[in-house]
Amino acid sequence: MKNNIPYGHQWIDREDIKEVEKVLKGDWITCGPKVEEFERRVAKYCGVKYAVACSSGTAALQLAYLACSLKKGDEVITSPLTFAATATAAMHCGAEIRLVDIDEGTLNIDVGEIEKKITKKTKVIAPVDFAGHPCDLDEIKKIAKKHNLIVVEDAAHALGSVYRKKKVGSISDLTAFSFHPVKNITTGEGGMVLTNNKMFFERMKTFRHHGMKKKPSGGAWYYEIEKAGYNYRITDFQCALGLSQMKKLAKFIKKRREIVSFYNKAFKGLKGIILPKEKPYVKAAWHLYPIQVRERKRVFDALRKKGILAQVHYVPLHFHPFFKKEFGSQKGKFPKAERYYQGALSLPLYPAMKKEEVKRVAEAVKQTLHGE
Ligand SMILES: *Cc1c(COP(=O)(O)O)cnc(C)c1O
Repeated sequence: MKNNIPYGHQWIDREDIKEVEKVLKGDWITCGPKVEEFERRVAKYCGVKYAVACSSGTAALQLAYLACSLKKGDEVITSPLTFAATATAAMHCGAEIRLVDIDEGTLNIDVGEIEKKITKKTKVIAPVDFAGHPCDLDEIKKIAKKHNLIVVEDAAHALGSVYRKKKVGSISDLTAFSFHPVKNITTGEGGMVLTNNKMFFERMKTFRHHGMKKKPSGGAWYYEIEKAGYNYRITDFQCALGLSQMKKLAKFIKKRREIVSFYNKAFKGLKGIILPKEKPYVKAAWHLYPIQVRERKRVFDALRKKGILAQVHYVPLHFHPFFKKEFGSQKGKFPKAERYYQGALSLPLYPAMKKEEVKRVAEAVKQTLHGE
């Protein structure tokens, strides 16, 4: 492992450890003040009123769907090019998934195709900011408004990304983030939902905490279970880590963008490789550096032999046995996502990457593409 370069890795320094240690030595290791402090910090950073921190990005997505009262008989529109949780979190609410193919340029949902998939049952559009490049959020918002739908943005890749001068998190009805170690900041496991809607906010807080509402009118001890909720809480020491990581987010994004520029320059004009592109009205926080190559398996294996552990994001949703079982085989129905997957490769990209490592990756990719 020592000389291996993974596709993603957390950055944890002494400051982070100190902040976590302080909380561990204190009275509140969960349900304490750090949770709200972390929520306020991220909400302020994104320019949003409300935030609910929770145990994972998957829990964040489910809380967001529950805020929409998503249930059996409802449909959710999303992209096949995402992690399973975008869909499964909605399916746990009883909803069905309708897929819309990707746009080959941004690798995000093809906004021009969304309306064709809207039915009377559609309740939510769940765009995914793939690799950290924001979707066409204004267009999606317009479609949602026209058809009376709610936008739940899966921004697991996109904390810190900017769309038309606005931070991701401040645009859609609900935005879900993940703080898994490979994501833009980490709390170990963790997630958060942002919204400007007070009703959504209240619902999510209740669902996060067993569907429980305190009713002090019945006595200071008295509470009622209003719905079948969950324990999707996050601990205070995780939130202390999150707060400490937020201090470094700007630096993390700068480093990610520098590495992306380096790769872009190194691969410019190279045959047999398609690079990720950034729209002029976007500033992506670049969680991934997704390229497309011919003979992906050969390239993947050759890089692996050199200790470069590239990854593939993602096996399209409709290729998985579970989705085939639920929705029948849809092979061939989303040709752009399928074509992308054929050649997809995410190169190592994380702020702690050393310059020599970035160079090593670039050289190895060039050699491999030249068949050396
Ligand atoms: C990571 C990720 C999730 C899930 O987040 P977890 O924190 O791992 O539960 C959901 N959607 C996308 C697109 C992701 O990348």
